[in-house]
Amino acid sequence: MKLDLLVRGGLLVDGTGAPPRTADVGVAGGRLAVLPAESGADAREILDAAGLAVAPGFIDVHTHSDGIALLGGGRELVRAPVVAGVTAEICGNCGSGLFPALPERVPELRAEASVGFGGDVGFWEDFAGFAAAHAAVPRANHIASLVGHGTLRAGVLGPVDRPATPAELATMCSLLDRSLAQGAAGLSTGLIYTPGTYADTDEVVALAGVAARHGKPYVTHLRDEMSRVEEALEEAVEIARRSGAALHVSHHKTAGKYAWGRTERTLPRLARLRAEGLDVTCDVYPYTAASTHLSAMLPPWASDGGTAALTERLADPGQRDRMRAAITEGVPGWENTVGNGGWDRIAIARAPRHPHTEGRTVAELAAGGDPFDVAADLLLAERGEVMIISHSMVEDDVRRVLAAPYAMIGSDGVPKPGGRPHPRWAGTFPRVLGHYTRDLGLLDLATAVRKMTGLAAKRFGLAGRGVIVDGAHADLVVFDPATVCDGATFAEPLLPPKGVHTVVVAGRIVVRQGEETAARPGTVLTP
Ligand SMILES: [Zn+2]
Repeated sequence: MKLDLLVRGGLLVDGTGAPPRTADVGVAGGRLAVLPAESGADAREILDAAGLAVAPGFIDVHTHSDGIALLGGGRELVRAPVVAGVTAEICGNCGSGLFPALPERVPELRAEASVGFGGDVGFWEDFAGFAAAHAAVPRANHIASLVGHGTLRAGVLGPVDRPATPAELATMCSLLDRSLAQGAAGLSTGLIYTPGTYADTDEVVALAGVAARHGKPYVTHLRDEMSRVEEALEEAVEIARRSGAALHVSHHKTAGKYAWGRTERTLPRLARLRAEGLDVTCDVYPYTAASTHLSAMLPPWASDGGTAALTERLADPGQRDRMRAAITEGVPGWENTVGNGGWDRIAIARAPRHPHTEGRTVAELAAGGDPFDVAADLLLAERGEVMIISHSMVEDDVRRVLAAPYAMIGSDGVPKPGGRPHPRWAGTFPRVLGHYTRDLGLLDLATAVRKMTGLAAKRFGLAGRGVIVDGAHADLVVFDPATVCDGATFAEPLLPPKGVHTVVVAGRIVVRQGEETAARPGTVLTP
């Protein structure tokens, strides 16, 4: 039989964690075949991979790429993960997505999403609508989506700070059930973000129970990743135990000066839970800086009622003073990023109407004045939507999480047009392979690849992906382990990586010698 493609003589790193070995890999009809080295198999195209690693395509388990491909612009943002070897993205993280909602709430959520995702990207009643919109846009790699709890809550209750009634909770459960049945990959929460933060534990238990019935995970941005991270982790464990859902902790970190070093407690806790039989995993990105919305620096009540209500409050001096006091004094149950770090650790990443602020810290911009007023003025002038980079972690914590055997890799990238985003969107996977694996020796190559492939596919139910075995889907990346490294920096966050030679999606070459081709074989994955 003539193969479509033969990747010849590479070092096979198969995604299972098994020691690398020399082998040929054949592609035919979008599926893989593992062949002995020097198989001499006949193929329409032969890639010589001698001296290069051949791995399953990387799966980015944590993205906020829900909208970028739908915007029509932002080509360099859509391309960045593809040239880094990412063949599947999982969006809908941190409780935020572009579905589902009651039909009458769709216009309001579409307007909010347009602010949050950097343009009018659309909004859908369920996963099927979202999937159809993505399927209509040619793309190089695959995409899957979680159901975001914050979006779901806003889609039933609106963006309000109150508990859900039993009827509202039943409606949320039924919308979630429908989207999961249609192929959404699980349930995500962002319990530091409004409106997710307005939900109590019982509400999330009920929803996670729906995910459990579908055999899909509960994926959570914990209610606190700073001084109260351990309590927040226990809440997630309680939700998993009471609902029966598998637990996946998003971008695990212990950020802010009071929590530095706390991974020495959270990771042994996770290991113990696993030993006791709880199905718990996490993901991590390889940087000591985080990135999020500037509005998340404000107490949760500031956003009660949505973005319009937030901007009204920012314009009111009395309300501003209340926010300033909340940041200074703290509010029980609220992760206070500024109180845990300071405005000198928070840099503006994206403020489209004020590009001169991008790359500078809020403290610098205040130039001796009150940084809170600088932040509030900027948010007001940008109508509520400013992205920040927060230099809130220490290296030891990042390394400990990366090394945890159940930790997989997720970029947490937030691609939207303009600004100076966090380099993690373009740099995460090559940085783990280059800096942390080759240069620091924190991981061996097989372990690093497994964290990007097999482990991720298993957690998110992507059957036949993440491993190179006979019959698996033909998503591959060929890279040079001796030179692979990230190119993206905080100053130039979209620079491409080095050493990623070839990327194959569904049996088609989408990256050749580091350059994107015209092939667009990407699909919407429905685990
Ligand atoms: Zn998050």
